Amino acid sequence: MKTTSDAIIIGAGVIGAATAFELCKRGYQTLNIDKLPGAGYGPTSSSCSIVRAHYSSWDGVAMAHEGFSYWRDWPNYLEIDAAEGEIATYMQSGTVLLKSKTGHHEKVLEHYRDLGVEHEEWDTDTLKARIPYYDVHAFWPPSRPEDADFFRKPEEELEGAIYTPGSGYVNDPQLATRDLQRAAEAKGGRFRFNTKIVEIRRSDGRVRGVTLDSGEEIDAPVVVNVAGPHSFVINRLAGVEETMNIKTRALRHEVHIVPAPPGIDYEHEGFHTSDGDQGIYFRPEAGNNILIGSEDPPCDPQVWVDDAETFDRNVTRAQYAAQVYRVARRIPTVEVPSQPRGLSDLYDVSDDWIPLYDRSDLDGFYMAVGTSGNQFKNAPVVGLLMAELIDACEKGQDHDANAVQVKVPYTGVVLDAGFYSRNREINPNSSFSVNG
Ligand SMILES: Cc1cc2nc3c(=O)[nH]c(=O)nc-3n(C[C@H](O)[C@H](O)[C@H](O)COP(=O)(O)OP(=O)(O)OC[C@H]3O[C@@H](n4cnc5c(N)ncnc54)[C@H](O)[C@@H]3O)c2cc1C
Repeated sequence: MKTTSDAIIIGAGVIGAATAFELCKRGYQTLNIDKLPGAGYGPTSSSCSIVRAHYSSWDGVAMAHEGFSYWRDWPNYLEIDAAEGEIATYMQSGTVLLKSKTGHHEKVLEHYRDLGVEHEEWDTDTLKARIPYYDVHAFWPPSRPEDADFFRKPEEELEGAIYTPGSGYVNDPQLATRDLQRAAEAKGGRFRFNTKIVEIRRSDGRVRGVTLDSGEEIDAPVVVNVAGPHSFVINRLAGVEETMNIKTRALRHEVHIVPAPPGIDYEHEGFHTSDGDQGIYFRPEAGNNILIGSEDPPCDPQVWVDDAETFDRNVTRAQYAAQVYRVARRIPTVEVPSQPRGLSDLYDVSDDWIPLYDRSDLDGFYMAVGTSGNQFKNAPVVGLLMAELIDACEKGQDHDANAVQVKVPYTGVVLDAGFYSRNREINPNSSFSVNG
């Protein structure tokens, strides 16, 4: 006898688990299948899990702003009995978005004002007063330590910064995913691990189910692709990739860790900082460390990966030097260890670095993909959006012609799911970087 389920979700990363929870709330019996041994063991576990609202588009800011509240309200949102210490914690460090010649802050400010995102504009003197250990010189354009001018002291100073007190990061992205698994299971959701999907079965223009590497077949009227950097493989298995206007690819990314400078309690008092002037971001990390990622400046090489299972997981000395020396220019008292510490994992990048939250041309087959290194923060909102979209489509709504609109509970804003359509043109307002 074949196993069946109302909805199979391919992947148990943070978005796969959130989609399960939200579908379960709507009465669907879900089954997440993941080839790894537990929830959030894939790229989610490598996430810097930063929660900030500075996206290039109104829709991006609106979704991220809504997301703040889920993390602040995490125990209530999960609707499970969570003894203290057992669930992930939201570290509300606030974000400092340094004004830079990228112009990103100008787009962001407009959306913050329109959407009522709490923020303060800091001029250069305020920035110096609030964070005396930052060097506020402008190092523009982003460059690499091997460039001749990298260590030259610039004259010009930054224009200031935008501070958002509501943002921060989640202390343990894998634990947050496990929380969502527990929340979904409490509502009847099921999870299967160490199980790889090798076929998407379909007939008469509709998805019928999946086949596992063991040969076992599981039927379901709904199958959702939340396979992260493997999303393009799954879309090919479903035969839907060719008809999509926006596609996804896997991009290798490194993050590094250095100790905070002596005398600075960066872990408890430091801000998450977006430093577009240098093409990096950094945030406090446990053990009074600084966690550093790249904002994809043109001078950093892009390493696209065809086989998302066998990429190089080692950090490279060259990228370590690029990221940590940039931090050492901004915080001159940082001491740079000669031995690199960090990790490398994959982003699932869409053509315009904006996700695809959508149905597909195969009835019953949906996707939450192309998260482009920036959707951990949005996972609970995406779960909600996907559940509403799937439910509306299964009840007959033509989402391609009449896009699903979702009024979200905390901010009361209406999110247009059509913004994330696979059929859209490339969005020219995107930063084409992890900033979305
Ligand atoms: C280094 C790094 C730093 C990041 N930093 C941030 C940040 O600071 N803030 C932020 O908001 N976002 C960040 N992100 C992005 C964020 O982590 C992702 O958008 C998010 O984790 C995606 O979750 P997911 O559920 O879609 O997928 P994933 O975590 O990618 O999970 C997909 C799952 O699908 C499974 N799978 C794939 N194919 C199959 C198959 N055939 N059969 C069975 N299972 C399969 C995989 O095993 C995997 O577990 C970062 C990402 C990385 C890599």
